[in-house]
Amino acid sequence: PTQTLPEMLAASVEAHGKRPALEFFGAVTTYRELGEQVARAAEGLRRLGVTAGDRVAIVLPNCPQHVVAFYAALRLGAIVIEHNPLYTARELRHQFEDHGARVAIVWDKTVDTIAAFPSDLRIEHVVSVDLTKAMPLRTRLALRLPIPKARAARAKLTGRPQGHPLAWKKLVDHRRVSRRVPGPRIDDTALLQYTSGTTGTPKGAILTHSALRANAMQGVAWVPGLEIGGETFYGVLPLFHAYGMTLCLTTAMSIGAKLVLFPTFDVGLVTTAAAKSPPTFLPAVPPIYDRLAEAASRGDVDLSGIRFAISGAMGLPAETIRRWEEVTGGLLVEGYGMTETSPLAIGNPMGPTRRPGTVGVPFPSTDIRIVDPDDTSADRRLGEPGELLIRGPQVFDGYWRRPVETAAALLPGGWLRTGDIATADADGFVTIVDRIKELIITGGFNVSPTEVEIALEAHPDVVASAAVGLPSSRGGEEVVAAVVLREGAWLDADALRDHCRELLAAYKVPRRIVELDDLPRSLIGKVLRARVREQLLAG
Ligand code: ATP
Ligand code: MG
Repeated sequence: PTQTLPEMLAASVEAHGKRPALEFFGAVTTYRELGEQVARAAEGLRRLGVTAGDRVAIVLPNCPQHVVAFYAALRLGAIVIEHNPLYTARELRHQFEDHGARVAIVWDKTVDTIAAFPSDLRIEHVVSVDLTKAMPLRTRLALRLPIPKARAARAKLTGRPQGHPLAWKKLVDHRRVSRRVPGPRIDDTALLQYTSGTTGTPKGAILTHSALRANAMQGVAWVPGLEIGGETFYGVLPLFHAYGMTLCLTTAMSIGAKLVLFPTFDVGLVTTAAAKSPPTFLPAVPPIYDRLAEAASRGDVDLSGIRFAISGAMGLPAETIRRWEEVTGGLLVEGYGMTETSPLAIGNPMGPTRRPGTVGVPFPSTDIRIVDPDDTSADRRLGEPGELLIRGPQVFDGYWRRPVETAAALLPGGWLRTGDIATADADGFVTIVDRIKELIITGGFNVSPTEVEIALEAHPDVVASAAVGLPSSRGGEEVVAAVVLREGAWLDADALRDHCRELLAAYKVPRRIVELDDLPRSLIGKVLRARVREQLLAG
């Protein structure tokens, strides 16, 4: 029988009761304790009036209560909506307006923001999870650093909180737990997971138990030799993003692994945790692998227990792979996915047949096509770039309350339009080229920003770059690049353009090159080209 997410957890509680399920700053929760806490929190939510199909908002960093709240809401058949707790008041309000949840489980730091929302949002219950006080100074600093804007926005909110938030402790303070509540069915919606908002406003992707379960199983199948009841996963990726939700949480819970939770990524926090609970599996993104490899090569942290590591969300540089594998002795391979595919869709084999530079081959039960973006019925010839389409059990059911976007993304036959340009070779290995929305159109030609960036970054002075299209005085767009230079280097735009000319056709060479101290990135570390474009337009 196919299990829903709470049934998957219950099976692990049954099989691994005494084993650790979660660890948070050294405090361990066993599977049995987790099962009990989920039952109590479900009872608390039930008494607040939450029933099947209701939406429950979670606005928390990674912490045990996050996991408990997630499974408790699902246990009642409710739909969980994940939020980035570092979003500004405005960003959070947009999401609450979109999904209309009446119950929110919120980090104490964000409670005031939620409570001050306009009353037409009709949030009936705010549950406050007190985490901030218990956090070591280092974590508080790490969490605050990236959010100066969020703090400023909050300071301006003078609205009075509507009533008192309910303390988490009170929510779970139930000894008698009703067991008669029917759980969700496999095809019910489990999660509204917002996309990253890289190309526009984040959209709520509707993910069913069936899709999320399928993807957790695909994740487990990806990594050979994962030991049931014996792994230690490091949850440095946020659970509010599809990548962390599946590859840290639901995958770990399905194989009885211990999941060490980090409210934010910080080398020091990983170093401290690793001394007690060395990781065996670490899903992350390239900037995280770079920072950890650096710390490991200094001898600050021992990562030699990590046999496998997987990277996604953005391209994985060869240099990152080399450094990581040198310090850990394990493999680092790249995969591809998106919120709309729960998120895993394509991955490199965990072994000698992997191909760095590609994102690998489709997961089991997953089909792909590469088609003409202007006519999705026309398949591309082998090796020819086109839009990537995906079909499989992990594909979403549509965007929440966005019928137009849903119809544009989901084609008849269950094919999902990814909006990404890719190529595939004769063995089925896929290479991601660019996003369609970020292609630069200049003088009738399509320019791939990634290709321009690769050329720029081949220059020894360039550490990072972003190429975008800006309006040209002669009509259309022209290629403009922002670069971050190595310390001590100074920008010689003409020399850099000469360097590009050796690698790129003339129309692809940036007309202008601007130096920036840093590139704007999403919380998971993706370069936000749209934001770079806005910055360059503004001057
Ligand atoms: P939005 O859809 O709101 O604009 P987003 O697409 O960045 O934001 P996600 O669902 O988090 O939101 O990211 C999925 C996208 O990430 C993919 O469509 C693809 O462009 C990119 N991506 C994922 N994995 C890789 C990879 N290995 N290499 C390059 N790009 C990747
Ligand atoms: Mg997207």
